[in-house]
Amino acid sequence: MTISQADGNVCTVSTLTTEKQETASSVESPVIYLPGTDCAIKSQASLSAYTSYRVGGAAQWYIAPRNLEALQAGLKYAKERGIPVTVLGAGSNLLVSDGGLAGLVIATRHLRYSHFDPQTGQLTVAAGESIPSLAWAAADLGWEGLEWAVGIPGTVGGAVVMNAGAHNSCTADMLVSAQVLSPDGALETLTPGELGYSYRTSLLQGRDRIVTQATFQLRPGADPAKVLAATKQHKQHRLTTQPYNFPSCGSVFRNPKPYSAGWLIEQTGLKGFQIGGAQVAQLHANFILNRGGAKASDIFCLIRHIQHQVQDRWSIWLEPEVKMLGEFQLAC
Ligand SMILES: Cc1cc2nc3c(=O)[nH]c(=O)nc-3n(C[C@H](O)[C@H](O)[C@H](O)COP(=O)(O)OP(=O)(O)OC[C@H]3O[C@@H](n4cnc5c(N)ncnc54)[C@H](O)[C@@H]3O)c2cc1C
Repeated sequence: MTISQADGNVCTVSTLTTEKQETASSVESPVIYLPGTDCAIKSQASLSAYTSYRVGGAAQWYIAPRNLEALQAGLKYAKERGIPVTVLGAGSNLLVSDGGLAGLVIATRHLRYSHFDPQTGQLTVAAGESIPSLAWAAADLGWEGLEWAVGIPGTVGGAVVMNAGAHNSCTADMLVSAQVLSPDGALETLTPGELGYSYRTSLLQGRDRIVTQATFQLRPGADPAKVLAATKQHKQHRLTTQPYNFPSCGSVFRNPKPYSAGWLIEQTGLKGFQIGGAQVAQLHANFILNRGGAKASDIFCLIRHIQHQVQDRWSIWLEPEVKMLGEFQLAC
């Protein structure tokens, strides 16, 4: 069997398993699986469904492996065809271009397991586990340490890569080790020291390593009611200070210390400013909201507009925290 790719390349997938699937209209369409796995490969999968901005084009190829073997098979599949790989966690810090992404997108959302060890206080979790769910689960058990993370709608893998943080705590503070997979399929365990952590940064950004698992150090034995109250308080604080009512990626820009990006944008008079369906939030100026029907290009152009306006007023070029994937037109 031969599959034609959008760019005109042809990849022969004669080794792939296919099977016929019935649809409501009884039209049969072949489902393609990674060799030796039950992991389906989707072609031209819309990524707007998999990012918190709800924008972006399609992935040329898309898989969401459920285990390490399928993940390794996905890397092999991409390597054999010489196509690029992009890793997607919960897509809560991503702006995917309207033109979509070439190559293989690997979503970690189905890589799931968690193990709380009461002897050591360590929590070992798969990359696709949800950070807020872990924060609530830890609170229910009376384990301290993750209260700050309850409002960060990402995965474990995304948090490890981004050094996600809030309320003066961050991933690096809690991390004992991260297991990563290299493009040749080899696993390695890295310590925070080896990950080069600083503010919302790690050495994993822009690299070809995939985080498969992480171990965090928590503090068991506290009163669950107390931990739960602190967790709820953090969540409530965010709900009153940040706009959760429209799609966004959270803070768009890094804070250029000693300033906060939100304050600079607000002082530049940009709250409420809108391009297409993308708007600078009234509640928090470092958030750009998809007010409905926004394209990735609207958000991109608003980012550029903010950067230029803040540069003119304060001589500071705001650096995006959001990761932009795909191609964007420079002419806005
Ligand atoms: C409403 C809202 C509030 C937010 N608040 C905060 C906040 O308070 N603090 C904060 O730090 N962030 C915040 N964010 C941003 C975002 O949630 C974090 O950056 C989060 O850590 C991203 O995780 P993710 O799984 O969604 O990663 P994605 O957005 O899917 O990916 C982010 C980057 O990590 C890479 N990546 C993801 N998973 C892996 C993996 N397993 N292996 C290798 N690379 C990987 C991706 O390729 C990409 O480069 C917020 C976002 C929203 C929408």
